[in-house]
Amino acid sequence: MLIETTSEWNLMRRRGALLREMHELVAGNLMRGTLVTLARRCGKARCACTTQGRKHKSRCVSVNLSGRTRLAYVRAEKEAQVRKALGHYRRFWKVLDELTEVNLRLLKLGHGPSIKGPSEGEQGSGVKPARRGAKPAQQSRATQ
Ligand SMILES: [Zn+2]
Repeated sequence: MLIETTSEWNLMRRRGALLREMHELVAGNLMRGTLVTLARRCGKARCACTTQGRKHKSRCVSVNLSGRTRLAYVRAEKEAQVRKALGHYRRFWKVLDELTEVNLRLLKLGHGPSIKGPSEGEQGSGVKPARRGAKPAQQSRATQ
């Protein structure tokens, strides 16, 4: 029993840490994709890319969105930032998997995932209980 309580406490603590990390990752911006180097010829007959086969290299971020591969050039001074955003995305999925694991284990121990955030905004949209003829006991239950 003591072991179980400790593991529950540890799981909840871990859940808090994972949620905090996810918040940080999202706040730091993230994006899916891969950094790639494109090598191409510009087409000018006297350019080194044609005469010496030294192709022009450029860094791009490549990502498949809705079945379409999308590319965007990444200027050298932006590469570190893009790298970070891509790293945040990969880390986000690892954290999400671990959070899911922790939530599964907590569910098995009888703890639902405590939900905060957007669902709180839905309080006003719920159907109001009929006041007419409601008994005090029902009323207090409904307003809690
Ligand atoms: Zn060229």
